[in-house]
Amino acid sequence: MVTKGVERRIADLRRRIEAANHRYYVLDDPDLPDAEWDALLRELQQLETAHPELVSANSPTQRVGNRPSAKFASVTHAVPMLSLANAFSDEEVGEFVARIARETGDADPAFSVEPKLDGLAISLRYERGEFVRGATRGDGATGEDVSANLRTVKSIPLTLQGDARAASMPDVLEVRGEVILPKAAFEKYNAWALANGHKTLANPRNGAAGSLRQLDPKISAQRPLAFFAYALGEIEGAILPPTHSQTLQWLRSLGFPVSPEVGVARGLQGLLDYYRRIGDKRDALPYDIDGVVYKLDRFDQQRAMGFVSRAPRWAIAHKFPAQEAGTVVESIEVNVGRTGAVTPWVLMKPVHVGGVTVTRATLHNADQVARLDVRAGDTVIVRRAGDVIPEVVRVVEGERPLDRKGHPVHPPYVLPTACPVCGSAIEREEGEVIARCSGGLFCPAQRVQAIFHFASRRAMDIEGLGERFAEALVDFDYVRTVADLYTLTVDDFVVMKRRADERDGTIPETVKAGKIATRWAENLVAGIDGSRDTTLERLLFALGIRDVGESTAKTLARHFGALDPLMAADEDALKQVPDVGPVVAAHIAHFFAQPHNREVIAALRERGVRWPEGAPKRSSEGPLAGKTVVLTGGLAAMSRDEAGDRLEALGAKVSGSVSKKTGIVIAGEAAGSKLAKAQELGVEIWDEAALLAFLERHPASE
Ligand SMILES: [Zn+2]
Repeated sequence: MVTKGVERRIADLRRRIEAANHRYYVLDDPDLPDAEWDALLRELQQLETAHPELVSANSPTQRVGNRPSAKFASVTHAVPMLSLANAFSDEEVGEFVARIARETGDADPAFSVEPKLDGLAISLRYERGEFVRGATRGDGATGEDVSANLRTVKSIPLTLQGDARAASMPDVLEVRGEVILPKAAFEKYNAWALANGHKTLANPRNGAAGSLRQLDPKISAQRPLAFFAYALGEIEGAILPPTHSQTLQWLRSLGFPVSPEVGVARGLQGLLDYYRRIGDKRDALPYDIDGVVYKLDRFDQQRAMGFVSRAPRWAIAHKFPAQEAGTVVESIEVNVGRTGAVTPWVLMKPVHVGGVTVTRATLHNADQVARLDVRAGDTVIVRRAGDVIPEVVRVVEGERPLDRKGHPVHPPYVLPTACPVCGSAIEREEGEVIARCSGGLFCPAQRVQAIFHFASRRAMDIEGLGERFAEALVDFDYVRTVADLYTLTVDDFVVMKRRADERDGTIPETVKAGKIATRWAENLVAGIDGSRDTTLERLLFALGIRDVGESTAKTLARHFGALDPLMAADEDALKQVPDVGPVVAAHIAHFFAQPHNREVIAALRERGVRWPEGAPKRSSEGPLAGKTVVLTGGLAAMSRDEAGDRLEALGAKVSGSVSKKTGIVIAGEAAGSKLAKAQELGVEIWDEAALLAFLERHPASE
């Protein structure tokens, strides 16, 4: 039996859930915790199950969608849905503005300006405040009834805000807008589809269209679509504001989401400024747009301008350069980066995309190559968004060149097994996406970065040897391995710089005048000479062994005391070192097993690079043995590096991040999130005074 109380409770629950949905999906300002929202929805579902006569199509419980429709009925739009003329250049916008100024007699007309959403245009019909039907644009005159799927779009209000009996509530209201699939939802869906063997979506627009035309609203509900309103269709029983921009405000007040980027601009310059501003934001926006739209703001002026066929003369879409374009792959190549990473890419017929002409696009990695199955001769869609490197997004099916028997002319592409630069094996570890050249210091592609890293301040500390010199040294073949640095003379540097300047067209005036500066080269050679006296930990860090950062280098140096026993250690012995896991142990053992790496080390020794060696110091010794210490904030009495060294000398392992395994956090001045985390985890915390007192009680044994 239905009591007044149940009816009231159901109405109350619906109102509260819809209000929460509005705040969540439209205002982006949720006020109801998820758990409470769930509880309200559950209660409503239970009441509706118990009282089926009270179920309404516009109840929030119906948004999940559960009745697949056999096919879509067609809907005739009472007011046709418009298509806009496009402008691709500033000049075309200039002509548009001039035409309006001339024909309206308004020298400085105002325009409502909006981003042009890249989704699917739809029309929503409300009668006395209730959603009754939603349809696609179709051909503008007739569309398809996709009401069931639109009900799953949570930012579409099912009941308008405000009192249905109020004079301001129109009897009939048709609202036009765009249904879109936000970028994040698009990516999430594709990741899911990939992992579960489903077809991925080509782009967010196709995702939105496909989703909306799904026959099963449950599938539609899986892809969280969003909606933005931007125009009106049929309207009865309401007095409209005099301008388009005010109408958008009114739609907002009824509960419709309107893009936060809409605004009003005047004059050609105002429109072009808006175009550039939105263009700059384009990649950061949560949804795809393909341009901006300018609409004459005053409705009386719109009427005066009228239409040409179905396109209004009072509005225009100013398009951005296309971010995707099709072209043909000429060949597939690989590039070896400075860290040895092997990146496949395509050389293709020149194509204009994202505002520039490109001939190369990345394929990222071997997995992507396999996923796309891209081959030479294929027609591909290339995407270039903003300053991002152009990438191949898909192969156009059916355009692959076939032989007379109908077989593809080119076999599937496989990544080479040898580095195209140095011939070393290309290796890919289990669970790693990136394949790498195993050549290490031997590979010229990796040399520049290796040399730059070797010379850096925390490694061998060779002052003045920046990236540009490192590049020139490799380009002109002065240096094949880092050991060659120790053979360079002042003359070598002077000649190298002259060649680099000639090549780059950067010959200084003083040199043109016949003066040759050599002081810098003398300093550089002195810097290289000075770096010969180093420490084992600096050397280990400088060698650029994968995963051996400063801290691991230090631990290794301490643990083995000398280089030879470290080079002789196998993976099992390396795993005994604190903080060295199986992966790092494998990298270290692999590095020292490479003959060319051993040659480099021998050459360094031969050329006078030396470091003190001593007995191994296992960190099981010292008062802090086995403890992990994290330093955060600034110390007054010493640098953090120095404090770390002294703690390590006492057996501590110094780490950069706080976890449950952390023994002590030493919090200096202005310590931030690490201190907060330590407090949260209940880790022992010392201030600087406690640290200094401890160090005083435990003078280093050396
Ligand atoms: Zn290589």
